[in-house]
Amino acid sequence: MGESIDYKIIAAFERIAQAFRVMLWEKSKELALSPIQIQIVKYINYHSDETITVSKLANIFDLSKATVSDTIKLLQSKNIIQKINDDKDNRIQKIILTPYGEKITSHAQSFHNELMQILENILIEEKSNLYISLLKIIYYLNRKDIITIQRMCFSCDFYNFKSEINTHYCELLKTYLKVDELRIDCPDYKRKFVAE
Ligand code: SF4
Repeated sequence: MGESIDYKIIAAFERIAQAFRVMLWEKSKELALSPIQIQIVKYINYHSDETITVSKLANIFDLSKATVSDTIKLLQSKNIIQKINDDKDNRIQKIILTPYGEKITSHAQSFHNELMQILENILIEEKSNLYISLLKIIYYLNRKDIITIQRMCFSCDFYNFKSEINTHYCELLKTYLKVDELRIDCPDYKRKFVAE
């Protein structure tokens, strides 16, 4: 008998993770930035409407505050990011990209295009099933404390699965969520308390 499908899924994850590492390293060499520096600038770019601080980045990337702080200093010295006072709370310094940082980021994200092209070859139903499975895997990785909390529907206090109609529902937005509307990084997220 062959290997179990679980084993094969794990092997497939390892290959995809390897592909990500390779693509990220290629980009790192091109831009003279480390992989974590690239991930941080990409995150800052995607979340430009939020207040980004060292603590927040440390939490998101599972790094110590000292490591993030050093990375931020380096990125500041390269004129990629800058710290400014938060207009909502002057005591907080938020991190934003400089105009040069924005240019770098759009270049850093170009490897996503290759992945987008690959995903175009996959049927929409297959993508929906894949997305649900990935969300569940991320959810259980968090439950096992392997990754920090993700701002996604499955672990959100507002999420409700309506089993009678097999549909996802957000109690905050008061709306049903189709699979492609389930969020993986929601600004309205509220962590659900789960008894151990
Ligand atoms: S608040 Fe956001 S994360 Fe929570 S259930 Fe609604 S859409 Fe999902």
